[in-house]
Amino acid sequence: MAVGRYVASWDEVASLDCDHIAGWGALDGYVGTVDFDDLTPAKIHIEHDRERDTISAFYFSDNGKDAEPVRSTVHLERCPCRFGGTRAFFRCPACQRRTLRLAVLKRGMLCGTCGRITWASRRETQTRRLIRKGNKIAARMGMDYFADPPKRPPHMRPETYARLLTELQPIRAEIERRVARRMAKAKGPLGGLATIVRWGL
Ligand SMILES: [Zn+2]
Repeated sequence: MAVGRYVASWDEVASLDCDHIAGWGALDGYVGTVDFDDLTPAKIHIEHDRERDTISAFYFSDNGKDAEPVRSTVHLERCPCRFGGTRAFFRCPACQRRTLRLAVLKRGMLCGTCGRITWASRRETQTRRLIRKGNKIAARMGMDYFADPPKRPPHMRPETYARLLTELQPIRAEIERRVARRMAKAKGPLGGLATIVRWGL
């Protein structure tokens, strides 16, 4: 498998958010499970050790029959807040840096840098690239935007117009397919293209 700069985005991996789990008491002696529903692993067992102030996680690397048991222990750091109290941070077991989010991976729990996790999903980056490409062709056709209804500019030769249209159509279809898939997931009330415009693409 080819390894790119990033292997996954945060919305694709199981992860622990320090503020969130602190909010429901996980960093206060909690022993029990955390569910990730449709992610892998779907569920982990965690134990907070008050004395050492560590979180240990036990889980299986995936849901298949070749799954390996994983055990990962993370130290917590409590930093004083400006207005009193403390805020907990994870200390990444690999690089020892403070982090508020850990990915739950086959290799153990890791920060975004060590786990090579990105915020922007790769699919979204590709979609943006397609939109830029589509808009470039649209501009040559005298349109403002790739999704505008195409119309041949008066001075453009019909062959040139036909060629540009042939280039634009598959790009437009692919953008719409990607957006439709994302909208199916997000279950939002907006049309897909309206959403893309709202995201400032
Ligand atoms: Zn790290």
